[in-house]
Amino acid sequence: MQQSSTASRAESDERTCKIDRIAVEYDLGDIAEELGELWTREEERYSLRRLATHFNRRLLRAAMERNGMDVLEGEAENTYRLLTDDDVSVGTRTQARNRLRKQGVDIEAVESAFVSYQTVNRHLKGCLDAERPAEPDEDGVEKATQRIAALRNRTVVVTENTLSQLRSADEITLGDADVFVDITVTCADCGTHTTARELIADGGCDCE
Ligand SMILES: [Zn+2]
Ligand SMILES: [Zn+2]
Repeated sequence: MQQSSTASRAESDERTCKIDRIAVEYDLGDIAEELGELWTREEERYSLRRLATHFNRRLLRAAMERNGMDVLEGEAENTYRLLTDDDVSVGTRTQARNRLRKQGVDIEAVESAFVSYQTVNRHLKGCLDAERPAEPDEDGVEKATQRIAALRNRTVVVTENTLSQLRSADEITLGDADVFVDITVTCADCGTHTTARELIADGGCDCE
């Protein structure tokens, strides 16, 4: 059970997901519902990753403002990038963290409050019961997912057979082995790195 340090948390027993908890803790208004809206609306739907980024930037901004920082336009976005982007050097990141710390921001608490796209996914499905309306090309997506799954299974079967032939021929030693195939995709533009299945389910990468 989560330890309850504020009264508002105690009254919301069924809403104990990280998103809801952090939204209350950092006074982020109705962002928990807003994520559902951004995910299901007709136009320009956000991907799960983009929703996580959206949430985390708001959280960072709130933490900065709470400590009396005058947060300029785009500053929270840039600071978030410095804290999280793979392309930022360790030195630059340390500088950004130190600057926040000097302003009184509990950077460790903020960073551990950041949410992943998996957390956003659980919140949307578990708390909001949100469902994305079917897109026109849903069939194409479904077929593509099946095609990749079939290819993946075939790779597993071929590998298993090949290994067991080698074992039968005493070419290799192998115990009770499991073959696991993971097809991953990396986008060189935005750095998204995920399995092909998740990428499709998530509507693609973070590129705008
Ligand atoms: Zn939730
Ligand atoms: Zn991308």
